[in-house]
Parts: sequence; C-alpha cells; structure tokens
Amino acid sequence: AARDEAVVELTKVEKRFGGNHVLKGLNLSVRRGSLLGVVGPNGSGKSTLLNTLSGFVKPDSGTIKLKGMDIAGWPIHRRAAMGLGRTFQVPQLIDELGPLENIAVGLVARERATYLAPFFQTPGVRKANAERHQASFATFAELRLPNDLLDLTAAKIPLGLKRIVEVGRAIVSRPDVLLLDEPTAGLDDSERAEFGQLLRYLQGAGMTVVVVEHNVPFVLEYCDELVLLESGEITVHADMSKPLPARLRSYLSYAPEHHP
Ligand code: ADP
Ligand code: MG
Repeated sequence: AARDEAVVELTKVEKRFGGNHVLKGLNLSVRRGSLLGVVGPNGSGKSTLLNTLSGFVKPDSGTIKLKGMDIAGWPIHRRAAMGLGRTFQVPQLIDELGPLENIAVGLVARERATYLAPFFQTPGVRKANAERHQASFATFAELRLPNDLLDLTAAKIPLGLKRIVEVGRAIVSRPDVLLLDEPTAGLDDSERAEFGQLLRYLQGAGMTVVVVEHNVPFVLEYCDELVLLESGEITVHADMSKPLPARLRSYLSYAPEHHP
C-alpha cells in the first residue's frame, strides 16, 4: 500500500437531523498513516463526521470508502472488522469491569451474535476467551499502563488512564484507522502530552489516526494534517508541514482554549 494512498475517502456526504443540516456535502480524503486533526466550533458536526465513519450515523447520501470499499451501508460491527476503531467523546468503559475485560470488549464488538457464547463453555469457547485475555493483556502492556490498575474496576481508574484504556479497547483488534473524539478533554497538560506521545506511537505502529481535538498546542505539536469544520463544511484541509492557511491561523488563534 502506497503511503499517500487514501485509506478513508468521503464524497459528498450529507446528513440532516430533521431540519438541521449538519453535514453539507463533505469531501475528505485521509492519507494512510497520517495523524489528522479535526477542529471546529461546537455543533459544527465533528462528532457526526466520526459517527458516519464508524457507522453510528447513516448519511443521507454520499459515499464513504474504507480501503477502497464503499462502506456507507455497512453495519457497525462489519466496519470494525474491516479496520475501523473508535473511542467516544464521553468515556464508555463498563464501570464494573477491570481494564483487561474492558479492553477485551473491543474484540467482542467486531464479532456478531457472540452474546450466548459465555453460556456454552465448550473447549472452543474457553480457548477463545483465553486468547482474548492474552490479547487484552498484550495491549495493556503495550500501552504501558501501570500494573496496579489490574486490581481496579474502571469506575476507580483516574480519567487520564481511563482514556488510555479506551484506546486499548479500540486498538486491541489492530484497526487500520483509529477515530478519537476529544480524547484529551479533561486531561491536564502532562496527561495530554502523554496522550500525544501515545498517538505518535500508534502512528509509528502503522495506524491512521483521526482525532477531534480542541487544544491548540496539541494539534500544532502532534497533527500532520488539520481539517477545519465549520457549520458542516470543511473550510480548510491543511498540511501542517507547510505554512498554515490564514483562515486556519485565525481560527486557531481565537479558539477558546487559547484564551482560558
Ligand atoms: P460537534 O461534535 O462538532 O460539537 P455534533 O456533530 O455533535 O457537533 O453536532 C452537530 C449538530 O448535529 C448539532 O446541532 C447537534 O445538535 C446535531 N446532532 C448531533 N447528533 C444528533 C442526533 N443523534 N440527533 C439529532 N441531532 C443531532
Ligand atoms: Mg463533538
């Protein structure tokens, strides 16, 4: 696969919620291996954009291609199996479960109709469970999560580490593309910097990362492409290795995070 090939491609994607025109004919090409940031005012459609990619929202029209396949009509689990991983704006860990079980959810999420499997303890099911546990632990260790978390339920894990466990759940299935919706919201500067390093690591491991992020220093430091979404339209798609377009520069300098 060529490095400048598009791994995700949206063409004329439209979405209305009732009379609310939320995505207005979006065209977006995401280069394989890039770390693409999405910025824009509240309500401009950033989460809806990620949701149309992961399948939680069905676009009214337009095409969505993943690795060349048109996935617009595909259900969520099939997209996940084909290489899309995601996290949510509000952490969605299961409070009663520990980090390994929460990470393992990412393996179950892309299977279909496995709900009854735990009740049939055949050797095959036991083997599958053991493999899931092993994969979860490998991801836990890969993310350098501290071992003392293993004894905690998700409810007791501090927010900064919760966000990393969430990434674990999204990457345990080795997706090609990882979608992150405001993953550093509520983190302090040092936790945010650690999260940035983690994204760099994932990019180095071959993933394409699409991240909705408000923090200006963060996007300047870590993103290599940046999209500005305003009222459902992409007004800028910038290559961060080049001088920033004036419109993006002015958006970033007035972004609320610059003026706390
Ligand atoms: P952002 O993430 O950029 O803040 P969203 O994509 O969450 O913006 O929302 C864009 C617009 O779409 C908002 O007006 C929001 O109220 C509306 N919206 C988002 N999701 C839904 C939904 N499931 N049903 C109805 N309206 C929605
Ligand atoms: Mg949002």
